[in-house]
Amino acid sequence: MSQRIAILPETITNKIAAGEVVERPASVIKELLENSLDAGATDISVEIAAGGRRLIRITDNGHGMSREDALLSLERHATSKIRTDSDLDGILTLGFRGEALPSIASVSRFRLATREAGSLEGTEIVVEGGRVRDVKACGMAPGTVITVEQLFFNTPARLKFLRGAETETGHVGDAVARMAVSRPDVAFSLVSDGRELLRVQRSDLRRRIAQAVGREAAGGLHEVAGSDGVITVTGFISGPSVVRSATSAMFTYINGRFVRDKVVQHAIMQAYRGVIDRGRYPVLALFIELPPGEVDVNVHPTKHEVRFRRQASVHDALQAALEEVLCRSPWLTHRQEPATAATATPPTGQAYRERIAAAAQASLLLPGRPARTSHPAAALTADAHSSLIPQPSTDSLVREPDEPFRPDPESAESTGYFSSLAIIGQFHGEYILCQSGVELVIIDQHAASERVAYQRLRRQFLAGGVESQRLLFPETLELSFSEAALVVRFRDDLARIGFELEPFGGATVIAAALPRVAVGKDGIRLVRDIVAELAALGTSAAFDGSIDGLLARIACHSVVRGFHPLDSRQINELLQAMDETDFAASCPHGRPVSHTITLGELEKIFKRT
Ligand code: ADP
Ligand code: MG
Repeated sequence: MSQRIAILPETITNKIAAGEVVERPASVIKELLENSLDAGATDISVEIAAGGRRLIRITDNGHGMSREDALLSLERHATSKIRTDSDLDGILTLGFRGEALPSIASVSRFRLATREAGSLEGTEIVVEGGRVRDVKACGMAPGTVITVEQLFFNTPARLKFLRGAETETGHVGDAVARMAVSRPDVAFSLVSDGRELLRVQRSDLRRRIAQAVGREAAGGLHEVAGSDGVITVTGFISGPSVVRSATSAMFTYINGRFVRDKVVQHAIMQAYRGVIDRGRYPVLALFIELPPGEVDVNVHPTKHEVRFRRQASVHDALQAALEEVLCRSPWLTHRQEPATAATATPPTGQAYRERIAAAAQASLLLPGRPARTSHPAAALTADAHSSLIPQPSTDSLVREPDEPFRPDPESAESTGYFSSLAIIGQFHGEYILCQSGVELVIIDQHAASERVAYQRLRRQFLAGGVESQRLLFPETLELSFSEAALVVRFRDDLARIGFELEPFGGATVIAAALPRVAVGKDGIRLVRDIVAELAALGTSAAFDGSIDGLLARIACHSVVRGFHPLDSRQINELLQAMDETDFAASCPHGRPVSHTITLGELEKIFKRT
């Protein structure tokens, strides 16, 4: 008898829809930018205050709206982009759900001003929490200006989930950068609290990517252009010398829409297997185009996820397009016999990986490289600028490998276990062989150095801060906007572990000082690794909880890997430092540092017993 069910008024349904579309200022900006691009804008400026919480304003020079359309655009499911059911199968615009404007307007103080090129005046509509308060004529240039103030003022639960202004600004910056990379033919600008974070003129894709990922990375990009008849893949990808510790510089688009898709990501990483180390990600901007019927973008309101009709063929086409470039190893520009590496059809599987390995080897044999880099142990992991290549460090004498090794007679004066060992010599540039009574002691010099460095860093940290060294030539590095925001947020914490990182406009950061142990190594890569770890943390409280991991990371970077000859003085120093190290304490990787073979074991091997 009783009536329990009622159809909700639109002010409520819009608020519910807003919950899906509008998560934070960056998602508002993504929706509004899509609308501006769909309206044919060639110049779009974004302005925010307090990370977008106080103000978001987007101004475009697109086709604008008539008064009637402007009013309609605020109604739920009002769109100019599709008309019929069948249109859903061939969407060519970025928007189509007709949800963004009413959703945003229902959770903010919203103002839409718009003018069609042919009309004499514009229309201004003021909406507050979803209710239209005022509609009037206004003077303005052709195009559309949308102002969103006090986002979530009427949804306190949502408001609580917003992060600090810096973090939100970072997300906004990333959203604008993604759009900017997808449309180099459109000029974009982003101003935050009066400060210009980004301004790009209309240009071509290569230049646009350089503006997004930094010139240093853009120099190492190679063009991709592949098609299997149905799927087309174009864009630019990096070689092994330009890698990142996170996926933040991977810009992937499907039919012009930025996506974060598992199939796409997997295909990319498959192609890079054997080219870059695990845990490293390339820098790239890839545009995958396929017939609209082959992909469903209507999976989620934010349209970050898609569904492919033929997932496997998209995966394979993408992987093949990348391998076609990667197997040519275009980063080896001064190779001596380029003819052998370039083939019309890309080799796959094992053959492909062998070629990559051969290319990596060849890059190490270039004239002008130090002879020791040709050591096969180094060749397995090295790339053109890798820190993995043993490099003469500035503060130690590196013995040439052909110089005979002479044990130092003065070495026996110390007291600890390791320094009391009689040094036999070094094996393979990676192990130290010693004798202790009737035992042969083999020390993994990398593991040992790393552990020693870790303990030193820990002591320094507990005593007030990791020793830092200012760089003679501060290094610039390009991060994503949200990563740059992390650097600002964790600035004081980073100083405690030896990093002095200064924001330098946009997403650029200057490394002015590094932990002393890491100076002269690949400091920039270390900074990227640390920033990637910060991204997983969130709060400053979590920083202290993960300090061991961060110090281990620095220690790991302080050690020269691969074939690394040591002279007797260096060996003695290491053994002495090992005696000062508490090996029982928590260790970075849990790898053994030394291994002992008794005389008895040796005798068994040689069947003497
Ligand atoms: P959708 O983009 O899915 O169609 P929206 O709610 O985002 O839905 O926008 C509703 C309609 O308002 C669009 O279809 C478009 O016609 C119009 N519109 C929105 N923003 C603009 C703009 N910046 N310039 C011109 N028209 C716009
Ligand atoms: Mg839209």
